[in-house]
Amino acid sequence: MDCVFCKIVAGEIPADILYQDEGMIAFRDINPVAPTHLLIIPRKHVPSLAHLSEAGSSLIADMVKVANQLAKMEGIAEGGYRLVINCGKQGGQLVPHLHMHLLGGRQLSDALG
Ligand code: 5GP
Ligand code: ZN
Repeated sequence: MDCVFCKIVAGEIPADILYQDEGMIAFRDINPVAPTHLLIIPRKHVPSLAHLSEAGSSLIADMVKVANQLAKMEGIAEGGYRLVINCGKQGGQLVPHLHMHLLGGRQLSDALG
Protein backbone atom coordinates (compact mmCIF):
# COMPACT_ATOMS: atom_id res chain seq x y z
CA MET A 1 0.00 0.00 0.00
CA ASP A 2 1.25 3.44 -0.91
CA CYS A 3 0.77 4.97 2.54
CA VAL A 4 3.62 6.72 4.31
CA PHE A 5 2.42 5.70 7.78
CA CYS A 6 1.94 2.05 6.72
CA LYS A 7 5.54 2.21 5.52
CA ILE A 8 6.66 3.48 8.94
CA VAL A 9 4.69 0.64 10.59
CA ALA A 10 6.41 -1.83 8.24
CA GLY A 11 9.84 -0.34 8.95
CA GLU A 12 10.29 0.68 5.32
CA ILE A 13 10.67 4.36 6.24
CA PRO A 14 12.66 5.31 9.34
CA ALA A 15 10.97 7.13 12.19
CA ASP A 16 11.82 8.07 15.75
CA ILE A 17 9.53 5.51 17.36
CA LEU A 18 8.85 6.07 21.07
CA TYR A 19 6.17 3.51 21.73
CA GLN A 20 4.81 0.36 20.20
CA ASP A 21 2.37 -2.36 21.11
CA GLU A 22 0.41 -4.93 19.14
CA GLY A 23 -2.10 -2.38 17.89
CA MET A 24 -0.31 0.94 17.80
CA ILE A 25 2.90 2.86 17.32
CA ALA A 26 3.92 6.41 18.23
CA PHE A 27 6.74 8.45 16.74
CA ARG A 28 7.96 12.04 16.44
CA ASP A 29 6.41 14.20 13.76
CA ILE A 30 8.94 14.96 11.02
CA ASN A 31 7.87 18.61 10.98
CA PRO A 32 7.18 19.47 14.64
CA VAL A 33 5.13 22.56 15.47
CA ALA A 34 5.79 22.29 19.20
CA PRO A 35 8.71 21.05 21.37
CA THR A 36 6.80 17.80 21.78
CA HIS A 37 4.95 16.76 18.65
CA LEU A 38 4.20 13.06 18.45
CA LEU A 39 1.90 11.03 16.25
CA ILE A 40 0.00 8.05 17.60
CA ILE A 41 -1.31 5.72 14.91
CA PRO A 42 -2.96 2.31 14.66
CA ARG A 43 -0.83 -0.32 12.90
CA LYS A 44 -3.88 -1.18 10.84
CA HIS A 45 -4.60 1.14 7.91
CA VAL A 46 -7.74 3.08 8.81
CA PRO A 47 -8.00 6.06 6.42
CA SER A 48 -9.61 8.51 8.85
CA LEU A 49 -11.91 8.99 11.84
CA ALA A 50 -14.81 8.81 9.38
CA HIS A 51 -13.85 5.21 8.59
CA LEU A 52 -14.04 3.93 12.16
CA SER A 53 -16.64 1.25 12.66
CA GLU A 54 -18.56 1.29 15.89
CA ALA A 55 -16.53 -1.70 17.01
CA GLY A 56 -13.38 0.24 16.21
CA SER A 57 -14.24 3.27 18.29
CA SER A 58 -12.46 1.83 21.32
CA LEU A 59 -9.34 2.38 19.24
CA ILE A 60 -9.59 6.09 20.00
CA ALA A 61 -9.78 5.39 23.71
CA ASP A 62 -6.64 3.27 23.40
CA MET A 63 -4.90 6.03 21.44
CA VAL A 64 -5.76 8.56 24.16
CA LYS A 65 -4.38 6.19 26.79
CA VAL A 66 -1.09 5.92 24.91
CA ALA A 67 -0.99 9.70 24.36
CA ASN A 68 -1.47 10.32 28.10
CA GLN A 69 1.36 7.91 28.87
CA LEU A 70 3.63 9.60 26.32
CA ALA A 71 2.79 13.04 27.73
CA LYS A 72 4.12 11.83 31.08
CA MET A 73 7.23 10.36 29.45
CA GLU A 74 7.86 13.66 27.65
CA GLY A 75 7.43 15.64 30.85
CA ILE A 76 4.50 17.70 29.56
CA ALA A 77 1.68 16.10 31.53
CA GLU A 78 1.69 18.73 34.26
CA GLY A 79 2.09 21.76 32.01
CA GLY A 80 -0.67 20.59 29.70
CA TYR A 81 -0.96 19.34 26.17
CA ARG A 82 -3.31 18.98 23.24
CA LEU A 83 -4.55 15.96 21.31
CA VAL A 84 -5.72 16.58 17.75
CA ILE A 85 -7.20 14.32 15.10
CA ASN A 86 -7.75 15.94 11.71
CA CYS A 87 -10.34 14.27 9.51
CA GLY A 88 -10.61 14.75 5.76
CA LYS A 89 -9.47 17.56 3.49
CA GLN A 90 -11.31 20.45 5.12
CA GLY A 91 -10.34 19.07 8.53
CA GLY A 92 -6.70 19.54 7.56
CA GLN A 93 -5.82 15.85 7.23
CA LEU A 94 -2.85 15.44 4.89
CA VAL A 95 -1.88 11.83 5.56
CA PRO A 96 -4.80 9.46 4.94
CA HIS A 97 -3.97 7.04 7.77
CA LEU A 98 -5.72 7.76 11.07
CA HIS A 99 -3.39 9.53 13.49
CA MET A 100 -3.56 11.55 16.69
CA HIS A 101 -1.22 14.49 17.26
CA LEU A 102 0.17 15.00 20.76
CA LEU A 103 1.33 18.59 21.10
CA GLY A 104 2.95 20.27 24.06
CA GLY A 105 5.98 21.93 25.59
CA ARG A 106 4.89 25.48 24.79
CA GLN A 107 1.79 27.64 25.27
CA LEU A 108 -0.56 26.62 22.45
CA SER A 109 -2.87 29.20 20.93
CA ASP A 110 -6.52 29.17 21.91
CA ALA A 111 -7.53 29.41 18.25
CA LEU A 112 -9.35 26.41 16.87
CA GLY A 113 -8.79 27.07 13.21
P1 5GP B 1 -2.25 15.75 9.23
O1 5GP B 1 -2.21 17.11 8.61
O2 5GP B 1 -2.56 14.66 8.22
O3 5GP B 1 -3.14 15.68 10.44
O4 5GP B 1 -0.80 15.48 9.80
C1 5GP B 1 0.15 14.71 9.16
C2 5GP B 1 1.44 14.87 9.92
O5 5GP B 1 2.34 13.86 9.50
C3 5GP B 1 2.15 16.21 9.66
O6 5GP B 1 2.31 16.90 10.90
C4 5GP B 1 3.48 15.82 9.03
O7 5GP B 1 4.55 16.64 9.46
C5 5GP B 1 3.65 14.37 9.47
N1 5GP B 1 4.40 13.54 8.53
C6 5GP B 1 4.18 13.44 7.20
N2 5GP B 1 5.06 12.56 6.65
C7 5GP B 1 5.82 12.09 7.68
C8 5GP B 1 6.90 11.15 7.74
O8 5GP B 1 7.32 10.55 6.75
N3 5GP B 1 7.45 10.93 8.96
C9 5GP B 1 6.99 11.55 10.10
N4 5GP B 1 7.61 11.27 11.23
N5 5GP B 1 5.98 12.43 10.07
C10 5GP B 1 5.40 12.71 8.88
ZN1 ZN C 1 -1.68 3.43 6.05
